[in-house]
Amino acid sequence: MFMYIFLFYWYFISSEYVLSKSSNSDCLNSFSSSACKQLTNIDFSRTSSLIFNNASFTKLSNYSDNFGHLLKLAPAAVLKPGKAKDIVKLIQFVYRYNSKLKNRKTKIFVACRGNGHATNDQNLLNKTGIIIDMSGLSSILHINTNKLWIDVEAGILWLQILKATLKLNPPLSPRSWTDVLTLSVGGTLSNVGISGQASRFGPQISNVLELDVITGTGRFITCSPTSNSALFYAVLGGLGQFGIIVRARIPLRIAPLKTRTYTAVYSDIQSFTSDQIMFLNDPKKLFDYVEGSINVSSNPFTFTIELAKYYDNPSTLPTNSYLASISHFNTDSLTDVDSTYFDFLNRVQATVDYLISIGVWDFPHPWLDLWLPASNITKFYNSAVASSNPVLINGPVLLYPIPTDLINSKTSLAFPSDPSNVIFLFDMLRTASPDPTLIAAAEADNLRVKTAAIGLGGKGLFNIAYTKGEWIQQYGSKYARLSKYKKRYDPLGILTPNQHIFD
Ligand SMILES: Cc1cc2nc3c(=O)[nH]c(=O)nc-3n(C[C@H](O)[C@H](O)[C@H](O)COP(=O)(O)OP(=O)(O)OC[C@H]3O[C@@H](n4cnc5c(N)ncnc54)[C@H](O)[C@@H]3O)c2cc1C
Repeated sequence: MFMYIFLFYWYFISSEYVLSKSSNSDCLNSFSSSACKQLTNIDFSRTSSLIFNNASFTKLSNYSDNFGHLLKLAPAAVLKPGKAKDIVKLIQFVYRYNSKLKNRKTKIFVACRGNGHATNDQNLLNKTGIIIDMSGLSSILHINTNKLWIDVEAGILWLQILKATLKLNPPLSPRSWTDVLTLSVGGTLSNVGISGQASRFGPQISNVLELDVITGTGRFITCSPTSNSALFYAVLGGLGQFGIIVRARIPLRIAPLKTRTYTAVYSDIQSFTSDQIMFLNDPKKLFDYVEGSINVSSNPFTFTIELAKYYDNPSTLPTNSYLASISHFNTDSLTDVDSTYFDFLNRVQATVDYLISIGVWDFPHPWLDLWLPASNITKFYNSAVASSNPVLINGPVLLYPIPTDLINSKTSLAFPSDPSNVIFLFDMLRTASPDPTLIAAAEADNLRVKTAAIGLGGKGLFNIAYTKGEWIQQYGSKYARLSKYKKRYDPLGILTPNQHIFD
């Protein structure tokens, strides 16, 4: 008898029961009573939680902000799914509910949050918005060491994948990386996922074998280049518009043991970018990674090339004298550093930790990320970047080439073309003090640089905010195809609405 009383008592104080009881009144802060009745009756798994914001909209403050720290939008609720089927249940409810609505003001929207690194409003929602916190789905599902792939839930961070695959015998790793490993798989695959490794392997969106996706109608679809391929390519680089990625199959390679990183300084843009392109196109593939940056703390600005070679045996490494003989950098500036493969991939973390320690990591980040065609890179630099005010930048400025033949043009990613098949990634990773005047000045400067880039055939990358007309220009001939897919996979425009790409 005592046992039954205990079980009964335990059931009623279990977190789910307490959550749904307390949240029912919070639900009414944002949704109609009919919506609340249906929402709180959804039979989610015990490992999932749906939490509603409180009356002052402060309860979900962690989800009201992102790495940009430029705007705050308070969502109505957050679903932290423990199982993908709970996302299906939520989206099916939202789809049913919205399809019967007469008043568009009460329409419910949904957006995913990977690890919150977007700097505009892509992973934020307000009023009747429900955020899906993908960190609830962050497990490794399977590693196939014969066929060399890993199946992961989409909320996992690349860092977790690297740590797990390097432990295998032989050590394995994905092929393509971002510079910061605390980004989520779903977040980067919805954007592009890029760094210097893309010079050899393409961006992360070019390194995916299969996906499980939940569409804006609540359908769970497995897709790949050969099955449901339209959805597969639509969600890759799709800015969260066509579906929610819940599982990804990522190809693996045997991981190298070590990396040697070479850096050297250039005084002029022409020599810098033509050497970068030379290393990119080098038929011997001397380097596994080609990046570079603009040093805005020197006057005039200088340029640093960053090249990395993976190795197990140091005899395969290029010598410094050979490098100097084929390049145009200032010879005495050449340095090389050896590290483990893991430390190389995770090297930016030390800088992140330092910025956290001095309290500036949480400052606003009015970032600008662009693509430029290689033929116009010097013109772009001279007209839009060379005379920039370093005080308004206060952060790294990255500039490096990517071969377009390693970016799958069937994906949703918008990128420029160039007769040389090379385009440049340009990132102005600004940090602004939390002073509205400085933030406004940095944003005005972003507009100036973005306008110059577009005038020279450039395109926006992730984090970009556009008007509808600018989106049409951004996608060019792809816009019609993407509009068709939006109607097919998210006909009610529920997913990731803040970018207003199709409305
Ligand atoms: C410090 C830092 C370093 C960065 N470095 C790089 C880099 O080296 N290379 C690079 O390519 N990018 C980089 N980015 C840029 C970019 O912001 C991220 O690639 C992207 O936002 C992923 O971050 P996240 O996982 O935190 O996703 P979030 O920012 O939370 O989400 C990004 C977008 O994807 C959507 N989304 C998230 N998960 C899913 C999902 N499962 N299904 C569908 N849509 C989803 C969100 O709604 C949002 O629109 C960096 C950003 C920061 C702040």
